[in-house]
Order: sequence, then structure tokens, then C-alpha cells
Amino acid sequence: MEKVKYLIIGGGVAGTTAAETIRQQDPAGSCAIVSDEPYRLYSRIMLSKPNFFLEKIPFDQIWLKQDEWYPKNNITLIAGKKATALDTAAKTVTLDDSTSIVYDKLLLATGTCVRKWNSKGADKQNVFYLRMLDDAKQIIAKVKSTRSAVVVGGGFVGFEMCEMLRLAGIDVTLIIREPHFWDPLLDKRSGTLIEAALEKGGVRIMRNSQVKEVIGGESVEGVTLADGATLPADMIVVGIGTYCRVEWTAGSGIKTNRGIVTDEYLATSAPDVWAAGDGAEFKDVILGEQIQLGNWANAQMQGRVAARNMCGAHEQFRLVSFYVTGGFGITIAFAGDIRPTEGLSPEHVEGREVIARNAADGNSFSRIILKNGKIIGATMINNTKELTALTKLIEKGADMADNKDKLSNASCDLKTLL
Ligand SMILES: Cc1cc2nc3c(=O)[nH]c(=O)nc-3n(C[C@H](O)[C@H](O)[C@H](O)COP(=O)(O)OP(=O)(O)OC[C@H]3O[C@@H](n4cnc5c(N)ncnc54)[C@H](O)[C@@H]3O)c2cc1C
Repeated sequence: MEKVKYLIIGGGVAGTTAAETIRQQDPAGSCAIVSDEPYRLYSRIMLSKPNFFLEKIPFDQIWLKQDEWYPKNNITLIAGKKATALDTAAKTVTLDDSTSIVYDKLLLATGTCVRKWNSKGADKQNVFYLRMLDDAKQIIAKVKSTRSAVVVGGGFVGFEMCEMLRLAGIDVTLIIREPHFWDPLLDKRSGTLIEAALEKGGVRIMRNSQVKEVIGGESVEGVTLADGATLPADMIVVGIGTYCRVEWTAGSGIKTNRGIVTDEYLATSAPDVWAAGDGAEFKDVILGEQIQLGNWANAQMQGRVAARNMCGAHEQFRLVSFYVTGGFGITIAFAGDIRPTEGLSPEHVEGREVIARNAADGNSFSRIILKNGKIIGATMINNTKELTALTKLIEKGADMADNKDKLSNASCDLKTLL
């Protein structure tokens, strides 16, 4: 049985950053990464960005590490193998080829995977999801012979896919179950601004709508909606959320909820096991809550902090994370915890208040989310210029109870509140 000092499950940005950090902290300790994807580290972010998707840049720009980086740093990459069982008492991880690896310290950096669509006919050819490089390769190949596409889901994947498909000259219909885009994370005003940009870009939006059945033979030919309408489509891209695959850790004693539960040091409930990245549901010291995030900066930073703790440090993870996306001439930015007051479970509602920050031009809009008087998150439509100030205000945790009028006044410079 192979034995390594540091074992990392998941070779995305969290896992690979952790390996890199371990190597800096402990030049001699053996380190292996197990990844069920057959690739070295690549930019997952780039998969949904027009230059890559429309093949305007060389494919090779997707790689963030070269093959030789791993042996050069004495890091073993076990690619194309899945971890299927974990025994925290014996300190072993079993892989899908039945081999086992013994570890001293283990990091779970397994990210999330796409939620599968359960519509009738969703198993037909040319129904796609976008999470992995292999997904992107399939979509890029299919786009070349596509005239009309249906995108299902009103989140960031849906938004970015609409833009790329339109740029590829395809007729696009976006189907959202909710009354407006990105509901309930965004309010109606923000959703409407995004929808206006999508429609100006030629996307047809069907709100309060659901697919009853995917029609066609082996391959997609269209969809029938719940109201009986039929839309032709050569392909469908589904973006209805992600979830964390934790089944394989069952029986290991590691506490899981929506993700792998950790404390503020990213340590799990089992000794010598940490978690980092999209799959970690960690204790956020700024918010004082368990949260799970899905953004690159958070995953990278968590990989770094978890690795330092695996090497003997006792460092809290502290970061106000943010996410910026854009397309159709609009920018959308999120900072901190943007769960609002409505549509979510009761524990997320308590003590929360949303302050709208309407700009006079009507084209930009921010929402500031307060919890017990402190700013904990913000969403910005066409207002990325406020991202830095809002991020600092979240980090500072200052009481804003007496400044609500300033927060709601878009002509007040937020920097004056710092
Ligand atoms: C299309 C797309 C666009 C995005 N754009 C942005 C953006 O613009 N900005 C931004 O901040 N974020 C963006 N994100 C989110 C960002 O990519 C993620 O937050 C980040 O990649 C998370 O990194 P991670 O290492 O935690 O997980 P992942 O990158 O998901 O890596 C986890 C790896 O572990 C593997 N794995 C899982 N289980 C096992 C197992 N049992 N055994 C072996 N391997 C396993 C997975 O297959 C995967 O390879 C985007 C995501 C997608 C999908």
C-alpha cells in the first residue's frame, strides 16, 4: 500500500494551490493529488469566457500548470482516478481501481458537480452541462452545427452561456422557472436590468416557465413547455446549480451538510483531515456563520490556508470573497454573503435587511445586505466601481445603523464610510 505524508483529493485550484503551498512549507514531505479528471490544473473560469469558448485564443492557454510542474515539485498527480472510500481511523483513501493510499494529513478539495436535470427526455444527446473541461469540449464541438439552442436556468452559467451562444450566431431561448433572472438571490430590479441586457443581445426569455419534455429521437430536437408551447432546439445547456458529492466519505466520521463541514481553520470533524474550496462548508469568521461559496478566489485562498495548517500552522481562514461576471454590456458583481431576506430558510432571514442603492441614471444598481446593522454582502449591477469599498466595509464589520441613509444614497461615496 502506498503511503504519503500529504494526500489531496481533487486537483482543481484549491487542491493544486494546497500542494504548491505544502511544497513551500515542507520541501521534502511526500505529496500526492488524486483527481478524477484526466487533466492537470486548468482554468475552470475560462470555460465560460468568450475567447476560449469561441476558440479565439490557443487551446493551450487553458492550462495553469504544465505536465512537468508536478514531478519538478515532487508532487505525484494521480489523474483519472476517483476516491471512493475514506477510513479516517486507518488513515486510508481507496480509489476506484481498488488501490489504497495511506496518509498522514488529508485534504478534501473535491469542489462541486452539476445538478442533473430530471426533465423527461433529459438523457438525449446534445443536452449539456458546463462544469468540466470535457463538458466544454463537447459544447464547443456541437455549437458548430447548431442553429437554435435552449438554455435552462437563470444563474451565472445560464447568463454566460447565453452570451457565448449568441456570439456564435445561434438563436437562444432562456427558460427560467422563476419570475425573474437570478431569483431569489437577486431582487426584481437587478433581475430586470440583467434581463434587459439579455434581450437587447437577442436572447428570448421565457419566465415562470418549465420544460415538460425534451423532444426528439436519440438527439434533442426541441422542448415542450408546461404550457404546451414547443420550441425547436439543436442543443440544450442546463445550469440549475451544483451540489457537493460527499457520499464517498460516509462512515468516515466526517461531518457533512450541504458541503464538508469545517471550522475556521478549515479542519473537518476528523483528525488530520481538512477541506477547502467549493466543497467546504466553513465557519466564516467575518460573518460568524457556516457558509459554502463557489468562487475561484475563495477556493485558491482556502487551499493555501488549509495547506499551511496541514503543515503545522494554526491559521484562521479570513476572506471577503467576490465574484464578477459580465456580458451583453452589463457587469454583475457579488461580494461577501449575498443571501437576502426572502426565499431562503428561516435561519438566513433573521436579522437581515436589504438596502437598495439606486443610481440616478437607472442603469446601475447596488444592493447592500446588512445583518444586525453590519454589512455582510452586496450585489452590484453595472457598479463594479463600488466593489473595493464594499468589500472593505464588509471586512471592517462596522456598525452601519446610523449610516443607512448614506448607503441608500447612490451619490454618496462609500469610501467616506471607511
Ligand atoms: C463554467 C464556470 C465558470 C466559472 N467562472 C468563474 C468566474 O468567472 N469567477 C469565479 O470566481 N469563479 C468562477 N467559477 C467557479 C470556480 O471555477 C470555482 O469556484 C473553482 O474552480 C472551485 O475550485 P475547487 O478546487 O474548489 O473545485 P473544482 O475546481 O471543482 O475541483 C475539484 C476537483 O476534484 C475532483 N473530484 C471530485 N470528487 C473527487 C473524488 N472523489 N476523487 C477524485 N477527484 C474528485 C473534481 O472532478 C474536480 O476536478 C466558474 C465555474 C464554472 C464551472
